[in-house]
Amino acid sequence: MRIEMPSEVEWVIKKIREHGFEAYVVGGCVRDTLLLRTPGDWDITTSARPEEIKAIFGKTVDTGLKHGTVTVIKNHKGYEITTYRIDGEYHDGRHPDSVEFTSSLREDLKRRDFTVNAMAYSHETGLVDAFGGLADLQAGVIRCVGCPHDRFSEDALRLLRAVRFAAQLNFRIEENTYQAIADLAPGLMAVSRERVQTELTKTLLSANPEKIVMVEERGMSPFVTSCFTEAFHTGGCDAPGNGESFGHCFLELSRLSPEKALRWAGFLRFLPAKEATGILKELKLDNETIANAGAMVAASREMLIPEKPVIRRFLSRMTPYQFGGCLDIKALNGCSGLEEIRRLWREIADDGDCLSLKELAVDGSVLMQMGMKPGREIGQTLNRLLELVLTDPSLNEKQRLLACLKKDEGRLM
Ligand code: ATP
Ligand code: MG
Repeated sequence: MRIEMPSEVEWVIKKIREHGFEAYVVGGCVRDTLLLRTPGDWDITTSARPEEIKAIFGKTVDTGLKHGTVTVIKNHKGYEITTYRIDGEYHDGRHPDSVEFTSSLREDLKRRDFTVNAMAYSHETGLVDAFGGLADLQAGVIRCVGCPHDRFSEDALRLLRAVRFAAQLNFRIEENTYQAIADLAPGLMAVSRERVQTELTKTLLSANPEKIVMVEERGMSPFVTSCFTEAFHTGGCDAPGNGESFGHCFLELSRLSPEKALRWAGFLRFLPAKEATGILKELKLDNETIANAGAMVAASREMLIPEKPVIRRFLSRMTPYQFGGCLDIKALNGCSGLEEIRRLWREIADDGDCLSLKELAVDGSVLMQMGMKPGREIGQTLNRLLELVLTDPSLNEKQRLLACLKKDEGRLM
């Protein structure tokens, strides 16, 4: 079996071998190539120590010296080269207390999480598959290397990596591995929320985002965030055990384009916006994603009808991106009239209707020239005028707005 790799990678491996050491591509890139997928990056594993790699290549970046990783830059791309290692004891459920370098490739493969991630390859040796990774790849199975119970106890992040790979590759999780996930779910408490979030986000962005239900099914939700369980049980989804799996509510997530805010909003769409936002904050998502997803969830739960004033009112409160997401989520929920809403939205945009105070034909200074005192009243008046304009954009001319004010004088001024 021959695996094609970028010429830069061949160059790195050849150079290491010329100095008398072993070198292989390993892990995700071997897995992905065998699946005819394009690997994200090409990791190299070697018997050479980090100092030896640095001596061979001269120009390197110390990426994770402690763990034996050095990055070589070739043609503006970085290639991580990691020395064969054995992870020491784990006491915190996440990080080995120490790492020990070894000269055995097999030992290095043994410390890796899943069989499909524990294969190495070089042109000289062909595929090195000590744990049945190829068979699992062909059968579509995620299986721990070694005893699942031990492997998840060492590092609980692997619990969510199993779900993530199952979702990305559309694989099932092997029985013993699957059982061990439920047994060791509380271990997730030892994992940083950022790492939990990264795996969940990758799951949601995958081709099979509905596999996120395994987080609930395997009892991990209580150790993800408070209220995480509720995301699975509100909005008319059946509880597990009610015959059909509640996963069907999440099957449609794959219809959303794979963007972080949109997929998270779709996943959390049955929750009140405040709870949805709370979960995203607990998981330390970036502020922009939280704002976008929060706005999408909130808006998707509001009544929206195909009438321009209603649509303009939505658009006055959110960005076009957020409104687009709101419509996509409403579509998942089976809402009707969305085509007409999109058509009216296009007209509103083409006509350049006023949607914000910035676009209003009068501003605070005009009101003050008319004798209004600076203060809260000015803001309230402008907002009231914006309301009128959202209903009837033809009012957005200075004279017409001032006329509205005069008509309304008793109440407004
Ligand atoms: P991708 O980069 O596409 O997300 P990957 O398989 O390359 O997938 P990485 O997180 O980049 O995943 O890790 C590279 C390799 O390191 C994995 O294939 C696996 O062999 C090993 N690995 C990574 N994280 C762990 C872990 N927590 N426990 C055991 N092995 C791991
Ligand atoms: Mg990788």
